[in-house]
Amino acid sequence: MATASLTDIACPFCGLACDDLSLNESSGTLTASGGACSRAQSVFQKIGSVRSDAASSWIDGKPVTLEQAMTKAIELIASAQAPLFGGLATDVLGMRGLMELADRTGAILDHMNSESKLRNLRTVQDAGWITTTLSEVRNRADVIVCFGTDVSSRFPRFFERCVWVEKPMFLEDSEHRQVILIGEPKNLASAISPKGQQPEVIAIAQDRLAEAAALMRGLVAGSLPNKIKTDLPFEALQSVAERLQAAHYGVIVWAAADLDWSHAELTIQALTAMIGTLNNTTRCAGMPLGGSDGDFSSDAVMLWQSGYPFRTSLASGTSQYDPVMHSTERIVAEGETDCVLWVAGLDPDRIQVPNLRAVTSRHSASAKGCPMIALTSAGADLVSEAAVQITVATPGVDTHGYLFRADKVVTLPLRKAIQRSYPTVAEIAQHILVGLGDKAC
Ligand code: SF4
Repeated sequence: MATASLTDIACPFCGLACDDLSLNESSGTLTASGGACSRAQSVFQKIGSVRSDAASSWIDGKPVTLEQAMTKAIELIASAQAPLFGGLATDVLGMRGLMELADRTGAILDHMNSESKLRNLRTVQDAGWITTTLSEVRNRADVIVCFGTDVSSRFPRFFERCVWVEKPMFLEDSEHRQVILIGEPKNLASAISPKGQQPEVIAIAQDRLAEAAALMRGLVAGSLPNKIKTDLPFEALQSVAERLQAAHYGVIVWAAADLDWSHAELTIQALTAMIGTLNNTTRCAGMPLGGSDGDFSSDAVMLWQSGYPFRTSLASGTSQYDPVMHSTERIVAEGETDCVLWVAGLDPDRIQVPNLRAVTSRHSASAKGCPMIALTSAGADLVSEAAVQITVATPGVDTHGYLFRADKVVTLPLRKAIQRSYPTVAEIAQHILVGLGDKAC
């Protein structure tokens, strides 16, 4: 590796894509500084510390050359009748390559974060919503309600970058903002302002958050009966509703991944309906945080190229979207795939492979079950389920790329920080395409 020092680097390890990091590579150690949070420091360090001469391709867990791994991967894809491309944790360029390969092979595409993303998508499909951007939160929001999430467990620098900022453009200062956390927040430290202002916490168990959202919606709409019986903290929720009504620019923040219960989309719908009502008299918007593991990036490419989001099949030669039938979990459980291409090419600690051990594919007589080709970042553990595993270049570390930020309005360029020869996801997809030649898939 060459010695390198870079500034103003964008970080690919959560949806915030903070672009103020510095990276220094020296003696085989990659150190993130500047604004890097502890997660970014740890992941950059982990990926960067893998020696370029360490094994980077495996067949059945045994080190092989990249050529051998690619030959095996091509063989598996070529013989598959019902390939599934899952994980999809990659950037825009990686996803473009995968889309081309999926089109050629008739694959189904599903992301590792689809289940949470669908909670938001179902809300938009049903009734639409009003959402905002991180810049608007930073510069205008005077009342910020974090619903069902402490935010910083998933997006470590949210408060630092978007709330407790030095000079918001349209507010006197940030200290006058009201920050309210509803739910069971675990991590409060970063929600405390630099001058020590504590966030207000309204403790509500996760299994009561759906009721809390409905109650707040009714309070804002003025549609509750006069006497209401509830053991939820009614007065505290009423106070939040009143403060949102009095706010100049309220923002409701949620992370769909934290709203992890059956039909959580109904809770999100209650929040977005409340936001709609608030906009009759003032301004209020939602901030549905996401974008981690490249989910917004991969989804955007799918929308551009197929017209549909994750859980779309290209098997028939046209795009067929089905959020239930095309879920990885269901397809694997039902043995409806005979080859999984699993892409976890951003964070070596976020591989999330489905359990294929017990799968007997309907499309294969093989007693070995369903084979998996895993494309993982440097530093990832060996995937025991994988027939083939190949280390891929991580966008923002080993190669350049592009990542959609949590508010979907900005695509951040990712820069190559160190010199290693791992192939990119797009290069592997292209190599497989060439290897397939004219073979019918
Ligand atoms: S908050 Fe997210 S994007 Fe920002 S430095 Fe930490 S991991 Fe990276």
